[in-house]
Amino acid sequence: MSSIQGLFPPGTDLSLVQGIPFRCRPGCGLCCYATPGVGPEELPGLIKAAPSLPMLGAPSDHLRIRSRPGGGACCALSTTRCTVYPSRPSPCRRFPIHTHLGVRPQLSLVLSCPGVSLTGILGKAGDLPRTEETEGLETELSAVASTLRSTPTEALLRRTAHRLEALIRSSSRQGRWEEREPLQRDLGSSLPLPQPGDFPPSGVPGMDEPLENLPLFFEEGKGVLGLRQGNSGYQVLQFSEEGGEEDRLGEFPVPTYPPVLDEEARGLLNGYLRYLLRRDQFWFLAYGTLRDERDRTLREIAVSTLRQAGAHVVVRAKVRASLKGRAQEILGAPALEEGIRAFDADLLDQPTFGTAF
Ligand code: SF4
Ligand code: SF4
Repeated sequence: MSSIQGLFPPGTDLSLVQGIPFRCRPGCGLCCYATPGVGPEELPGLIKAAPSLPMLGAPSDHLRIRSRPGGGACCALSTTRCTVYPSRPSPCRRFPIHTHLGVRPQLSLVLSCPGVSLTGILGKAGDLPRTEETEGLETELSAVASTLRSTPTEALLRRTAHRLEALIRSSSRQGRWEEREPLQRDLGSSLPLPQPGDFPPSGVPGMDEPLENLPLFFEEGKGVLGLRQGNSGYQVLQFSEEGGEEDRLGEFPVPTYPPVLDEEARGLLNGYLRYLLRRDQFWFLAYGTLRDERDRTLREIAVSTLRQAGAHVVVRAKVRASLKGRAQEILGAPALEEGIRAFDADLLDQPTFGTAF
């Protein structure tokens, strides 16, 4: 791993991708319900591979591969296989690594990807194994390193540092600032878990939102599914590559109180929340809220973000269990894992005070 560390700018934090095995699951295709950006240097290879591949934008601007309308997949996907795989653009080469530029470049994993193993890493202690090894992520790490080399990384970090200094000054004057590290330790040792007032959590798109905006997840045997707020619960929709009329698999009640978790599931939830606390993206999300609001302190914002995240995870775990006809009263670790997978990308998609890709 030390040789891989050498590919990255000094100070890059790789600890959240180490010790977590990854293996892309054949037949999944979840990450291809997207419109990946195409760099100018990638365009000739892509055109050679697929001359009539539909694009969005202009070559001088932010060019993207189009997705099929009505919630369909990227136009290069065919029966869950990428037809331009050797020429796929860099966002596809980097996935499932999420990169955040805040006070430093930090890499973490999109835990919604079913190829990322959660076993053993989000246990009771929430500690990642003490290893510098990565397993199965070598190509993706090289792609991230290459993106960082072609990005004005230092300038973006400097710009964010200046904005953060201004935010620290103003929120300190208002008594709303706290240093991250002690706060992170504090919250990690006494994790804010979802409370009855956090249910039902808000933020799942309603019936008038385009299908492209729905949170998606991969369900074994059913493919790519999406969640939408219906009249009496969450609707689960089955997506198809071609887009268009989606199949509604059912509408399931959303718990209005915290579901009961068994011990293993509680350990997994704690581990997930600790993983969030270690992500710079989590803190830069909180800094953005601190800037936009006038009343709450950073501590209050961080606590409520963790509680909301926990509420989303357990609600989605319950809905996925109901989808399988297992509406059990007590949620176990397998259901909780499915809740994490159905939620994590939503959090990463939220705008950050820094830069993310
Ligand atoms: S979401 Fe993960 S497992 Fe699924 S196709 Fe993408 S990389 Fe592979
Ligand atoms: S270019 Fe290929 S890998 Fe990328 S989103 Fe489209 S189908 Fe998926």
